[in-house]
Amino acid sequence: ARGSLKVALIGDGIGPSLTPPMHEAEGRALGLDYTYERVDLAGQDDVDLAQVLAHLEARGFAAANVTHPYKQAVLAHVDELSDEVQRIGSANLVLLGPTRRAHNTDCTGFGSGLATFLQGRAAGRVLQVGAGGAGLATAYAMLGMGFDEIVVHDRDAASARRLVERFADVGGPTRLSAADGELADLVARADGVVHVTPMGMAEHPGTAFAPEGMAPGAWLAEVVYRPLETELVRRARGAGLRVLDGGLMAVGQAADSMAHITHLAPDRDRMLAHFQQL
Ligand code: NAD
Repeated sequence: ARGSLKVALIGDGIGPSLTPPMHEAEGRALGLDYTYERVDLAGQDDVDLAQVLAHLEARGFAAANVTHPYKQAVLAHVDELSDEVQRIGSANLVLLGPTRRAHNTDCTGFGSGLATFLQGRAAGRVLQVGAGGAGLATAYAMLGMGFDEIVVHDRDAASARRLVERFADVGGPTRLSAADGELADLVARADGVVHVTPMGMAEHPGTAFAPEGMAPGAWLAEVVYRPLETELVRRARGAGLRVLDGGLMAVGQAADSMAHITHLAPDRDRMLAHFQQL
């Protein structure tokens, strides 16, 4: 083994998360003694993140992935923020130690997955549906990819406007705007649609829009990955559209986290193959 690394996942109700087995399998494949431990804080009153992080450091943990509901709160307990974290305002990875550093690999993982999917094809006019926490990460990733136009819709119109205001001074070539008008019309006019709402999960059945209304030849990127084939993904495939499911973002965030933690290059194809068997 090249060395021993301990990594944690901090969140509420994280028992079913697939991130731990992804890290452990790839850690083994990289020849590391790599352990990944769940720190489930569900049901605890007055969670003291400072204490949680200090305790992990005292036990020799190198890093912690952070998930719901601590992705924003954790920023108060780190020393350095990556560019993505500063822009998005949340982190899903903290490198522990004397100088704690926060990263947002939801953003970078989505971006690399989408780039792989598009294979250099122009993204065209993009509609993003959903402007919550994950929507900030996907929108910032696409701004970094230099897309021509991104229109953001959220059923809470104020959320879409806040996202656009937040990124107003990012610069770059993208025209970023909050949606105006009927969602079905926006869907029909888009060359690509990014779906970033919880619709399609077991607790949120259904779809946010009808993918049959998308233009022929348009592409769809889904971020929900439980189930991997959401109703949206199934119907979009049925309509003959090019579809990226939520698996590539899930693998991308794990691979990018592991790259920061190990300074090695995780094998994304191997991680995706493993993820698809989980
Ligand atoms: P969130 O609650 O912060 O935001 C969801 C947003 O969607 C809200 O602004 C809400 O108003 C909007 N919304 C809900 N239903 C809608 C509808 N029918 N039409 C339009 N807008 C609607 O949640 P989040 O943190 O942004 O996460 C969204 C989903 O992203 C999660 O449920 C999860 O499945 C997925 N996710 C996937 C990955 C991955 O690695 N693949 C990572 C993070 C999140």
